[in-house]
Amino acid sequence: YKIILLKLSGEALMGDRQYGIDPQRLAEYAEEIKQIHDKGVEIAIVIGGGNIFRGVAGASNGMDRVQGDYMGMLATVINGMALQGALEGMQTRLQTALKIEAIAEPYIKRRATRHLEKGRIVIFGAGTGNPYFTTDTAAVLRGIEVGADVILKGTRVDGVYTSDPEKNADAVKFDFISFEDV
Ligand code: UDP
Repeated sequence: YKIILLKLSGEALMGDRQYGIDPQRLAEYAEEIKQIHDKGVEIAIVIGGGNIFRGVAGASNGMDRVQGDYMGMLATVINGMALQGALEGMQTRLQTALKIEAIAEPYIKRRATRHLEKGRIVIFGAGTGNPYFTTDTAAVLRGIEVGADVILKGTRVDGVYTSDPEKNADAVKFDFISFEDV
């Protein structure tokens, strides 16, 4: 692949913890990303925020959903900053769908493409910038925008199942799935 879009879920950063970021796990991801980068692959990363905050969880506790979703988007920015820190020594840029100028560039497609061409790893934070979406949607959106050849997802569950395998032991994994199956 020439250009890849890597989607890292927030939960993937937790390691064995219940919450937050495991520095050891983060360092492992950084090392793997470096190895792929060294092969000359252009790497864009969309990072989730579920290890810190999810809008739906806030809403189920009585919080306004939109407010909660913006908090979730900010959580992804925290993770993006942590990943950027772990990739220290490499050329990286953090671009966010919500403007936070002191720490990140605003998302500008042409600029992101230029960074990738120059061999910089681009981390996209704040999801799509819109409530009621998830960072999986952001991954597909950004993947299409930067012309990624593939979207790779690093998460705790290793595929698509008939139901959540962490909650249901009878869940069956799909080896192949199409729109017709859905
Ligand atoms: N979110 C949002 N719009 C987006 C992306 C994310 O509102 O475009 C919010 C939403 O509340 C979501 C949270 O940010 O629950 C964290 O993102 P996500 O749940 O996708 O993280 P992951 O599951 O990958 O850790």
